[in-house]
Amino acid sequence: MALIVQKFGGTSVGTIERIQHVARWALDSQARGDDIVLVVSAMSGETNRLVDLAHQIHPIPYSKEYDLLIASGEQIAVGLVTLAINTEAKKRGLLTSEQTARARGLLGYQIGIMTDSVFSKARIQGIQTDLLQKEISRKVIPVIAGFQGVDSDLNITTLGRGGSDTSAVAIAAALKADDCEIYTDVDGVYTTDPRICAKARKIEKISYEEMMELASLGAKVLQIRSVEIAAKYRVPLHVRSSFEPQEGTRVVPSDQLGVAMENVVVSGVASDSHQVKLTLQNVTDRAGVAAQLFGALSEAAVVVDVIVQDVPSNGVITVSFTVGKTDHLKARQTLEALQARSPELAGMRIVEEPNLAKVSIVGVGMQHHPGVASRMFSLLAAAGVSIKLITTSEIKVSCLIDQDLMKTAVQALHTGFELDRVD
Ligand code: ADP
Ligand code: MG
Repeated sequence: MALIVQKFGGTSVGTIERIQHVARWALDSQARGDDIVLVVSAMSGETNRLVDLAHQIHPIPYSKEYDLLIASGEQIAVGLVTLAINTEAKKRGLLTSEQTARARGLLGYQIGIMTDSVFSKARIQGIQTDLLQKEISRKVIPVIAGFQGVDSDLNITTLGRGGSDTSAVAIAAALKADDCEIYTDVDGVYTTDPRICAKARKIEKISYEEMMELASLGAKVLQIRSVEIAAKYRVPLHVRSSFEPQEGTRVVPSDQLGVAMENVVVSGVASDSHQVKLTLQNVTDRAGVAAQLFGALSEAAVVVDVIVQDVPSNGVITVSFTVGKTDHLKARQTLEALQARSPELAGMRIVEEPNLAKVSIVGVGMQHHPGVASRMFSLLAAAGVSIKLITTSEIKVSCLIDQDLMKTAVQALHTGFELDRVD
């Protein structure tokens, strides 16, 4: 008998039919003898609708009340899924006078999913398991709202887009579950987003490290934090389809990959289409200026990605960095406020380049094969894509390019690094 956490994403609970399918699936899984815990996202489109409502009131709505608002989509999904399970359980004759329910819906705060207070990007600090364990031992399936938690001041917090993945993995870690299944609208992790490249190939097994890089570089099939927690607590992840029953992709420690997979130089291509480059010109070159600029951004919880600083000339420097589109306005506002209160930044000019994309290649095999980066640059050049910024790490190379050329770039790299599906 195993304990399995099953997470269903937005599309997987997107309609009443899909919700009823989830209910049958969970009860079937339980009937096979396993203990089941469900984590659900908001019905597809719902969170976007709520975000849009907030934006109609304020251009940068991020605050306590924003989290309170956007966390509400999950409550609807939890209510419906729980109702569907109990209705199905009754139909199957599973309910008795002692056991009047087979599922119990629970919001984040009810099971003590404690987070910090960084609204809209909160991090989980701990989860209380007593109530969950009590329900599991009574064969009741906890149906938990993903994406949300509560801070020490009892504010509802949210974990960032894709945060239900992280809820599921953190719950699996806290319960020491045997498996964490992520049900979604694709049947696994592919060599690149199958919606961008028709020749994408399904990956059978991928290491936590590679999955972390792919996720951080834009492969939204798993939220990066979920993979970090899975790696740290060694939670086995299984990404699979909620529409079809076949095996999906296993995310495992690299020592469980097998030799053949380690020899692959590039295992995936990731892309992220909503990047903005900010260039700060005419910044006085003095000790501590970078700390001042990036300190202010970090305090405002702006996630800064690539940073490039030019060599000083005539006592001034130029600093460029990129942020995601959702942090763009906040980054500008933070820098302008800093400039207003810092006379030494009076001459600074902020130049913005929106509509950029980042394309990246990822592979643990890269460490032992030189020339991967230069091959990437040649492939992009041959496809007519010019590069605006480059960053590398041990197992990835990323290039910032024009958003319009993203699809072309992904396809060229996918073919060039021999990742195309052969059939
Ligand atoms: P859910 O709502 O179930 O969490 P998401 O939309 O967050 O689903 O994630 C699934 C989507 O991730 C897929 O529909 C696919 O377009 C996208 N995706 C991006 N990169 C990849 C990849 N490498 N492999 C599989 N899917 C990917
Ligand atoms: Mg998701």
